[in-house]
Amino acid sequence: MSYAYDDQNIFAKILRGEIPNDTVLETEHSLAFNDIQPQAPVHVLVIPKGPYVCYDHFAQEASDAEIADYTRAIGEVCRLMGVEQGGFRMISNAGEHGVQEVPHLHVHILGGRPLGRMLE
Ligand code: 5GP
Repeated sequence: MSYAYDDQNIFAKILRGEIPNDTVLETEHSLAFNDIQPQAPVHVLVIPKGPYVCYDHFAQEASDAEIADYTRAIGEVCRLMGVEQGGFRMISNAGEHGVQEVPHLHVHILGGRPLGRMLE
């Protein structure tokens, strides 16, 4: 499957500095910032800086350096937010069935309270 990236999506605007964000971590290839409508005491979005719609797109087209940076950034955010000990949830919604609102790859990191079971 090929993906078309819409550079007018809200996270592309954040990356271009057109919309402010509450940055938690910035690395060479990744940006992490607090979700504007947090669903838990910790709710951080981690995005690659490159133009990727979803994880499949990223895995197909990103460089090894981007993939390594993004993977490490996610771990670093968990440590920075102090959710490693209590536990946390990582979610990446994709496409229509995944109810992806913003068409730029992002991982939600949620924690800071018991999150309940997600899958029954
Ligand atoms: P999705 O459903 O695509 O996985 O989630 C998109 C997330 O982006 C939502 O949790 C939503 O609250 C968040 N979001 C949407 N617009 C903005 C924004 O302008 N700034 C920030 N920080 N988060 C946003």
